Amino acid sequence: MNRYDYVRPDTIADAIAALNNPDARALAGGTNLVDLMKYDVAQPALVVDINRLPLKSIDISDGEVRIGALVSNSELAWHPEIRARWPLLSSAILAGASPQLRNAATTGGNLLQRTRCYYFYDPSTHCNKRQPGSGCSAIGGVNRIHAILGASDQCIAVHPSDMCVAMAALDATVNVDGPDGRRSIPFSDFHRLPGSEPDRDNTLKQGELITSVAIPEADFGTHHTYLKLRDRLSYAFALVSVAAAMDIENGVIKGARIALGGVAHKPWRDVDAERSLRGETAETRVFDAVAQRILHDARGQGENDFKIDLARRAVVRALEQAAAGTPQDQANKSIQ
Ligand SMILES: Cc1cc2nc3c(=O)[nH]c(=O)nc-3n(C[C@H](O)[C@H](O)[C@H](O)COP(=O)(O)OP(=O)(O)OC[C@H]3O[C@@H](n4cnc5c(N)ncnc54)[C@H](O)[C@@H]3O)c2cc1C
Ligand code: SF4
Repeated sequence: MNRYDYVRPDTIADAIAALNNPDARALAGGTNLVDLMKYDVAQPALVVDINRLPLKSIDISDGEVRIGALVSNSELAWHPEIRARWPLLSSAILAGASPQLRNAATTGGNLLQRTRCYYFYDPSTHCNKRQPGSGCSAIGGVNRIHAILGASDQCIAVHPSDMCVAMAALDATVNVDGPDGRRSIPFSDFHRLPGSEPDRDNTLKQGELITSVAIPEADFGTHHTYLKLRDRLSYAFALVSVAAAMDIENGVIKGARIALGGVAHKPWRDVDAERSLRGETAETRVFDAVAQRILHDARGQGENDFKIDLARRAVVRALEQAAAGTPQDQANKSIQ
């Protein structure tokens, strides 16, 4: 780990002033940033500890929840109103990491956690995300966990968050404050596909701080699931995950949301495919057709070819669980 300066501002204005320095990084729960510093992947000259900022509340009013950036993953997942009204979000968070990590990890930090591509964490390898222009070791290398959708010839990494997959499905908005004032970013515009700038994970500008995430309430209380497929049951990042939610009346789908994790550089949503479910009956034949459609353009990299069929079947399974009102139980992680 390199030497760095450390500040702990009391106000959002002071934090933004400190962060308006290309070599500064915010420290929230530290569960990703400190790891990256130990691996010598992140080398901030200034660490801005934001834990004193007033960003720790969960406010529910006018049919939406506003989640402060410093709300821990545990507090959010176990909040009684979140469990009752946004159960998909609670379930996705509980599918991630371990209880100890969720106690430390924050809402803002979870959005900004970096990819788990092995090469990204190994400074002795070529990686365009870590060092732009150096090449991508995963292309033609060990790529079992890598992207099957939206990848580029510069980077095939995936976004690792579980929480973000549910937030994408639930049409969240990310609120930020920065040197140029406040703005709200629709979730689908927050994370980026790699394109020719894989070092940029998201659309935040220099010095911007996430202050909260807002999520509207929708009629998805009964028919939802977060299905996570991973290599081991204790804790592991998703090979493929699916957040599925439907509004079903008399067996007919009035609205649907489907987002996939572990398949692309960002949570993957296909709104045209979702729309195609409207007016259809909630049955496997229909779910199979939508899964084919979502994965139509999927491309493997060799070792991860199996993820295409895995994702297709996961979409069907998730929609079946959601339709039946039998969401994946995150306490019992085996696949029922
Ligand atoms: C062993 C292990 C297993 C894990 N398994 C999973 C898993 O299965 N699923 C999953 O989703 N995650 C998993 N995680 C990742 C974990 O969820 C993230 O590390 C955590 O959510 C990051 O939150 P944090 O508050 O600790 O962020 P930090 O490490 O503090 O920060 C992460 C990044 O966000 C920036 N940042 C933080 N807050 C803000 C803000 N408000 N505004 C602007 N920038 C900010 C920091 O500067 C840094 O760049 C795992 C982590 C570990 C170590
Ligand atoms: S996939 Fe992306 S993160 Fe992984 S080595 Fe290639 S450029 Fe780096």
